[in-house]
Amino acid sequence: MIQDIFPHQFSNVFENSVSSSNACICPTFENQIFLLEENNFLKFIETPDVSDNYQFLFKLDSVPFYFKEQTNEEKDILSKKFPEGKWIKRKDLRNVLPKHIAFVSAIALQLADWYKNNQYCGRCQSKTQHDSKERMVFCPKCNLQIFPKISPAVIIGVFHQDKILLTKYRNGPTANYALVAGFCEIGETLEDTVCREVKEEVGLQVKNIRYYKSQPWPFTDTLLAGFFCELDGSADITLEENELSLAEWHSRNEIPVEENFVSLTNEMILFFKNHPEYFEKSP
Ligand SMILES: [Zn+2]
Repeated sequence: MIQDIFPHQFSNVFENSVSSSNACICPTFENQIFLLEENNFLKFIETPDVSDNYQFLFKLDSVPFYFKEQTNEEKDILSKKFPEGKWIKRKDLRNVLPKHIAFVSAIALQLADWYKNNQYCGRCQSKTQHDSKERMVFCPKCNLQIFPKISPAVIIGVFHQDKILLTKYRNGPTANYALVAGFCEIGETLEDTVCREVKEEVGLQVKNIRYYKSQPWPFTDTLLAGFFCELDGSADITLEENELSLAEWHSRNEIPVEENFVSLTNEMILFFKNHPEYFEKSP
């Protein structure tokens, strides 16, 4: 999956001021990040010193990363200074290499976007300030504290004997096969979301819900939790046509999906295909 970047090590422990002789900067502009291209691979801009108006993001392999949203003028200066540079949108990062650059760039844009969207207090409209001890902004007037927003969502591998339910989303970013998925509503457990989404999207009942793995998905500010569950009752699908263009049962030997090393969805589909023994046991 995209977050599996070993031997590289990502650390998002917050530090207010990091003294380091080497750092990387992530200039951002309207949800795009500026990266340098070298021999078809992307890399970050390294710098021996970071100016005060850059905000700390995280560390990769002990190197601190900082970002600053660029003005139009700064953006032009940067493009002239680094002709090998490229602006890349967050949603397009999943397709770039190397994978660790793609992953941390998406995280950088996720954090940059959060800082940008919380410059003012949503309660009293005062200008917010960056906290010095943790990744939080606060309102000096009404004391509202704002932490980075992550929306939990579930990915659901519904199976029945040797078949798994594959879907295609009507307005999804790709035309690839997917699994049933959806965001958690306030007041729901993850398991409640699993049952509700399966019922809403394909009209089926499920049982024996088993947690599989999770995945940070910085492209949509989401934390994904993957579950497998077994069909309970009728296998007749009633498609929610506003969301899905297709939902169909595929037996193990007819799963039309190739490994992509990016998404939890992809890993779960192939895990079902390659590990029948896991699904024979009751949880
Ligand atoms: Zn306020």
